[in-house]
Amino acid sequence: AMKHLPYFCRGEVVKGFGRGSKELGIPTANFSEQVVESFPSDISTGIYYGWACVGNGDVHKMVLSIGWNPFYKNTKKSVETHIIHTFKEDFYGEILSIVIIGYIRPEKNFDSLEALISAIQEDIEEAKRQLDLPEHLKLKEDNFFHLPERKIVNNH
Ligand code: ADP
Ligand code: MG
Repeated sequence: AMKHLPYFCRGEVVKGFGRGSKELGIPTANFSEQVVESFPSDISTGIYYGWACVGNGDVHKMVLSIGWNPFYKNTKKSVETHIIHTFKEDFYGEILSIVIIGYIRPEKNFDSLEALISAIQEDIEEAKRQLDLPEHLKLKEDNFFHLPERKIVNNH
């Protein structure tokens, strides 16, 4: 799971397929199919942590899931970022920049919604701890997050 990391990526936030993440209190910003297709095809599905930034806003901690997309009958992947920050408004259509730094765990099926939510809360705590390590904190300051607006293009 680690050989492609850290992995830098940016692209537009699109409408997901209504899994109701927001209702669970853990909204996930979905990347377009085009961005997902540009990912290394052998990157493992599962839960990861890293840094994320919307437009040219602040850089925040995030947890990310790479999974199979039910909309395409699990033949294509989906990449969804939960930013560990409270936003005043949705940001569909904006450019999300991320660096994926480390792997937390594989995808799992849960017996209950409660079990799912508590697993995600543990993922978030693990991400927060990992990202406070100096070696991971330094990626927050990477030039990737501080490009002038005009230079922002997909997947660079
Ligand atoms: P969808 O199925 O359209 O992805 P979600 O319930 O997963 O719907 O909500 C995702 C949307 O919520 C994002 O596209 C973004 O506009 C908004 N959002 C608000 N706060 C956050 C956050 N902290 N992390 C990710 N997305 C957020
Ligand atoms: Mg989503």
